[in-house]
Amino acid sequence: TVGMVALDQEGLMTAGTSTSGLFMKKPGRVGDSPVIGSGFYVDSEIGGATATGLGEDLMKGMISYEIVSFMGAGFSPQEACEKAVDKLDKKLKERREEAGDLSVVAMDKDGNYGVASNIEGFSFAVVTENEESEVFIVDKIK
Ligand code: ASP
Repeated sequence: TVGMVALDQEGLMTAGTSTSGLFMKKPGRVGDSPVIGSGFYVDSEIGGATATGLGEDLMKGMISYEIVSFMGAGFSPQEACEKAVDKLDKKLKERREEAGDLSVVAMDKDGNYGVASNIEGFSFAVVTENEESEVFIVDKIK
């Protein structure tokens, strides 16, 4: 999945995803990526978020909506991403040993961004208005 959150010069925000779904998926499977609130969510008054990983697990948390809600409650994009991944990872592990891969990115209406993952080596890119880009590789949340 490629997920994106964008902010334009007038303060409007958008989020989008593009995905091939899961390897060897059953015909007709719908993952999290096209589901509003799960694969992506945005509110220009607050910010936006998008997710990648195991759709069946990501959908159990409506994780993108939750991140935007956390930002709306005053958490930074980084705090909101960490809180949401940590919460869902813990919830999934109450029922089984391992949670599926969960990775998220978010940006608030002021252009501050955050990222969190429960896997090692998740990468994301930031592109600024000068079209300069930087790629980051993140550690899994503790
Ligand atoms: N989240 C996608 C899905 O479950 C897969 C992915 O992120 O690569 O369909």
